[in-house]
This record gives sequence, structure tokens and C-alpha cells, in this order.
Amino acid sequence: MEFTRNRIDSVLVLWDIDHTLIETRGVGRASFAAAFEEVTGRPLERMPHITGRTEPDIYAATATLHGLEKPPPFPLFAEALAAAYIERQEQLHEQGRATAGAEHALAHLDSLPGIRQSVLSGNTREVSRIKLETFGLHKYLDLETGAYGDDDGHRPSLVPIAQARAARRNGGLFNRHNTVLIGDSLGDIETAHQGGARVIAVAAGGTPTAELTTADVVLVDLTDAPEIARAIRALTGA
Ligand SMILES: [Mg+2]
Repeated sequence: MEFTRNRIDSVLVLWDIDHTLIETRGVGRASFAAAFEEVTGRPLERMPHITGRTEPDIYAATATLHGLEKPPPFPLFAEALAAAYIERQEQLHEQGRATAGAEHALAHLDSLPGIRQSVLSGNTREVSRIKLETFGLHKYLDLETGAYGDDDGHRPSLVPIAQARAARRNGGLFNRHNTVLIGDSLGDIETAHQGGARVIAVAAGGTPTAELTTADVVLVDLTDAPEIARAIRALTGA
């Protein structure tokens, strides 16, 4: 029995945020535009492809697209972005949404012994917190343990950062055998493969199921919580 419990106690689940747990439905873009203009003095004209990238990476690429060779440092932008989200939090609540099944899936995993849930997101820590709190999802997640875009602009590097934080907070050792990333994009799959985690891809984010086949498991959406739990157990041997 003791052996079984120890094994179950060692699973770290890391959730991607955008298009996996929530959709900002335009509020994310509006917040980015406001922060970009405030910090650089330039109106946002266009954006690079952003899915699966980190915020510092997106900021740098956007600055390049606007011909800015030496944009203001990222921390200034991050601060303006958090303020822009706080200003729009009511709008985010009304216009955005949690994805289908997200809250129930988080609650179900939270009710199981030994599964630690946090996030692995290209968003900054502060914006991640605002987004999750807006939809009441933060209460199932240990946000201290997570890893964020402002920890490292290279997304795969966020996996060992989250694993080390989880080990410090909970004890144990987290590696690719007991860490599961749940995300919606090819970027999430590469992040898990390169960073050292199993990966469950959720097709509801818009990337076609056929393109997600390099994930360990592909789910249509998050509406079957027991199925997610079974997949986590199967991938980690818990
Ligand atoms: Mg995503």
C-alpha cells in the first residue's frame, strides 16, 4: 500500500492556459495592444504568430515587426500588460470564458490523492494569475509551483523550472516520468518533449487533431474528467 501511495504522490500536472483552460476572446489582444503602445509609443499594427510562444518572445517579435531595433526592456512591458489586464478584468469575465469542462477537470484532479496541479504558461506570472482568477480556476492550482514566460523566454526551459519548484514545495523528484503537461498547441507538445514531460494535447484549442499526433495522448476536449485522470495514470504509471 505504501508503495502505491508514494507513486501516486509524485505526479505533477502542468496546465497551459490560453485555449486550454480559458479563451480571452479578444481581450488578450486588446490588452497587448494597449501595453505595447504605452511602452513603445507605437500603435500595434500587427502581431506575429503567438500560439505556444512566451510573452517575452512575442514582445520581441512584435517589436521587430514594427521596426523597433531597441525596444524598451521586457519588464516594463510586462508591468504595463498586467495593468492592462486588470483594467479589463470585468470585460475579460464577460467576453472571455473557461473552456468546456475546464473547471470540472481541475476539480476532479484536485480531488484525487497525490496529483499536484500547476501551470506552465508563456504568459507572465501576474497575467496568468489574473486570467485564472477571473474564471475562478486558480483555486485548484498551486501557482507558486508553476513556470511562466517571465521565468524564461524559451518555453521548454520552463519544464525543469516548474519541476524544481514543485520538488522544493512538496518534496520528491519530478521528471519526465511523473510530469504531465496538458496543452492545446504544437508548441506545448515540443515544450514537453524537449523540456522533459509527458504531454496530453487537447484539440479544442483549434489545432486540428491530426496535427497533434506527436502528443502522448490526444483528447477532443476537457469534458471527460475521468478520462483525463486515466490518461495521466497511464502515462505516469501512478
Ligand atoms: Mg495554449
